[in-house]
Amino acid sequence: MSRSFDVVVIGAGPAGYIAAIRAAQHGKSVACIDEWKNKDGKNAFGGTCLNAGCIPSKALLESSELYHRAEHEFKKHGIKTGGVEMDIAAMQKRRASIVRQLTGGIGGLFKANKVEGLVGHGKLLSGKRVEFTPVDGDAEIIEATHVILASGSAPIELGIAPFDGENIIDSWDALELDAVPGRLGVVGAGVIGLELGSVWARLGSKVTILEAMEDFLFMADRDVAKVASQDFKKQGLDVKLGAKVANATVGKKGVSVDYEDKDGAQSIEVDKLIVAVGRRPVTDGLFADDAGIQLDERGFVVVDDECRTRVKGVFAIGDCVRGPMLAHKGSEEGVMVADLIAGELAEMNYDIIPSVLYTNPEIAWTGKTEAEVKASGRAYKTGSFPFMASGRAKAMEQTTGMVKIISSDEDDEILGVHIVGPMAGELISEAVLALEFSASTEDLQRTIHAHPSLAEAVHEAALAVDNKALNFPNR
Ligand code: FAD
Ligand code: NAD
Repeated sequence: MSRSFDVVVIGAGPAGYIAAIRAAQHGKSVACIDEWKNKDGKNAFGGTCLNAGCIPSKALLESSELYHRAEHEFKKHGIKTGGVEMDIAAMQKRRASIVRQLTGGIGGLFKANKVEGLVGHGKLLSGKRVEFTPVDGDAEIIEATHVILASGSAPIELGIAPFDGENIIDSWDALELDAVPGRLGVVGAGVIGLELGSVWARLGSKVTILEAMEDFLFMADRDVAKVASQDFKKQGLDVKLGAKVANATVGKKGVSVDYEDKDGAQSIEVDKLIVAVGRRPVTDGLFADDAGIQLDERGFVVVDDECRTRVKGVFAIGDCVRGPMLAHKGSEEGVMVADLIAGELAEMNYDIIPSVLYTNPEIAWTGKTEAEVKASGRAYKTGSFPFMASGRAKAMEQTTGMVKIISSDEDDEILGVHIVGPMAGELISEAVLALEFSASTEDLQRTIHAHPSLAEAVHEAALAVDNKALNFPNR
């Protein structure tokens, strides 16, 4: 007799494993299937985020930033260190250990919540049956009342620069390099290009980033992008905009990359080339032809606002469906779907999902950019406050950047908050909460912020919207 569960989740990344845990918290019997294999050949839960994305990249960003600050900033604090040296093997050992602890933790969470973690491949068949093929055994058919597809995404490969795992590499390989490349090329100045470019630049690589778009960080507010662009340039990140890569050839001396920009044909030689031009949904072998699942023209599983596919009782969440490819977006979809399955009301507010780039300065935003508000025709006002005028930022020696707030001129509702500067990724949560509650600028103005704190810059930016900033001259 085949096994049956109330809920079967395919994929144990941040979307799938969170959905599984929440469904189990609702008293459902739950199985979560995942086939992820790390470079050491070992299977692990956690998907891209924990194994090859969010977590390892933040580990390296932290290590490389500490190294950079020890080299360039400690002297200002009066700290004498002698020579500072980087031990890449130790840095990578720490990264791997953090990943191991967190991915192992998911197994523990599954046990505590009575989720059956199944290691192997899952395939949705018709009639909400799931074919589970364990890594080391025969396939079995599992019956499910509800199925959640959470199969995630993979790097987009360029035909003109195919990955070879050695010279032309994807973000996962770039996280596991065992030596600092002398010359590092990156195709794509998106989130991965800037974060991983920063890591290796801080450790000594000469980094050149080729970006097809004419505008730097085209998805960010223009004021924020401008500050970030200037600072990255100072750090030695050479971002070439409007660069159309024509081909990349691997030779004895590394990779030769030909591209075209407004000045014509150009070429660079690098030791390693990271291609980071976005990610594509993973759906290979995920469902049978007669399972009833529909893909859109870009390969994403088609879902409605509640992540329901066209098949009753089958949901899809995370990177394999529309919307930003972000771990917290997938996790919240997982919570929503599990709550819906349990018969509760649940919804996602897609308009205020925060975006964070963990560069230095960090960049974070929620809600609309000024250009988006302008295009909407809504009358608006803005205010900003520079970290240069923040006592805490000065004490931290982190004064680059600012907080910018955009509010409605009619009813004072906050429409967007954009931060470039220290701990932007932490500061943005207050803004997300404000937008979730449809707060006004006045609400933020009347909220007491601890002194001295970076969050005071959010408070002051809200005051600046009405020309009432206290610690910086108003316009
Ligand atoms: P995934 O994490 O990709 O997980 C899907 C899982 O499903 C995988 O384990 C896969 O093996 C498994 N699977 C797929 N098909 C099957 C099948 N048929 N059977 C069994 N198992 C299957 N996002 C952020 O929010 N913050 C960050 O700081 C951040 N940093 C990133 C850094 C890098 C370098 C990268 C590459 C990504 C980063 N992201 C970040 C994006 C984030 O990793 C993804 O948005 C997130 O992992 C998506 O979660 P998911 O659960 O939808 O998919
Ligand atoms: P991205 O979409 O952020 O950036 C890709 C960049 O490559 C874009 O700027 C695009 O214009 C450029 N590009 C595309 N084709 C090109 C070409 N042929 N030549 C030159 N440039 C080209 O994608 P990514 O950086 O690969 O990241 C993938 C996903 O992972 C993103 O959706 C992101 O949300 C997620 N991620 C998030 C974080 C974070 O939240 N901090 C970190 C890393 C990754």
